[in-house]
Amino acid sequence: MSAGSLAGGCLCGAVRYRAEGPVIRVNHCHCGQCRRVSGAIAATWAAVPVAGFVIEGARPAEFRASDFATRSFCGACGSTLFWKRDGAEKIDIAVGTLDDAAAIRAGRHDHVEVRLPGFALDPQLPSFCADGTKL
Ligand SMILES: [Zn+2]
Ligand SMILES: [Zn+2]
Repeated sequence: MSAGSLAGGCLCGAVRYRAEGPVIRVNHCHCGQCRRVSGAIAATWAAVPVAGFVIEGARPAEFRASDFATRSFCGACGSTLFWKRDGAEKIDIAVGTLDDAAAIRAGRHDHVEVRLPGFALDPQLPSFCADGTKL
């Protein structure tokens, strides 16, 4: 996956962030939480190490949709920004908020058992169900 530094921010610019280090994983997540939180029919996330991840400007607002993870968004404009599992050493960035989102390509689909038909699975990518089985 790509190395180097990533930067991005929300729609209004109040929240900016930087991430150093390699992108660990990029996925299209089709789960119901990612669909609702993004407002899109699937969400694309780039996981980066927490070490080297820095938020600049406003602190994002937070929401816990489950008891094991926090989702972050801009409290001013509402942009979906991040999600992080409690205690994890990685944080997932909403790829659409990256300044250079074109440089990031997904490597897998997740939660495809609840995928909406409008989002075609990329046949080049592995696809996984919530229970870990490969489609
Ligand atoms: Zn904003
Ligand atoms: Zn999801």
